[in-house]
Amino acid sequence: MIIRQLEVSPFMENAYIVGCEETKQAVIFDPGDEAGRIAAEVQRLGLTVSEIIATHAHIDHIGAVHALKEMLGVPFRLHKNEEILVKAYDQQCRMFGIQFGAEPGIDGYIEEGDEIAVGNLKAKVLLTPGHSPGGLCFHFQGSPGSVIVGDTLFMGSIGRTDLIGGDMKTLIANIKNKILTLPEDTQVYSGHGPMTTVGREMKTNPFLLMY
Ligand SMILES: [Zn+2]
Ligand SMILES: [Zn+2]
Repeated sequence: MIIRQLEVSPFMENAYIVGCEETKQAVIFDPGDEAGRIAAEVQRLGLTVSEIIATHAHIDHIGAVHALKEMLGVPFRLHKNEEILVKAYDQQCRMFGIQFGAEPGIDGYIEEGDEIAVGNLKAKVLLTPGHSPGGLCFHFQGSPGSVIVGDTLFMGSIGRTDLIGGDMKTLIANIKNKILTLPEDTQVYSGHGPMTTVGREMKTNPFLLMY
């Protein structure tokens, strides 16, 4: 399994290229900015992208979707409850005082329990709202497994809950019920900051110990 993290934009957002070593198929998660750099990395790795997926639709996670769709000719999917944020794309740009590309078209939706295929790899979809209305995490089994969590969980922190669709209680419950129940050695790939593990966050994350 190939997981390539690229930190992009002034928001220092993590875009992820996940690839299957056997088939060279790949999916791009959360391309927030710098479409050209992401596409160049895909090419350097010798991968073929089948789709673009967003954990959620804050602009720092979808700013390069439109450009990459055009460059690669691939569809874009996310959870239906995030559509409201995609429709508010220009408002989000104004709110954050930054212009990211153009509003991406949505080509399909992803539901909890769906399986995302990346070549021979499969990710199980977990619905974890609380930071946003339809936030998703993607769990790849393995030894160790990996989970892409967007802004749901960070090393030593959790996502902010003061934006549209945010709710602290819901977020913490979803992290505890859906992320912390994964094997402790599962590698957690967050939307910002370094990689961590389920076990580390379970034992040291102050938000999860406090609430
Ligand atoms: Zn976010
Ligand atoms: Zn973010």
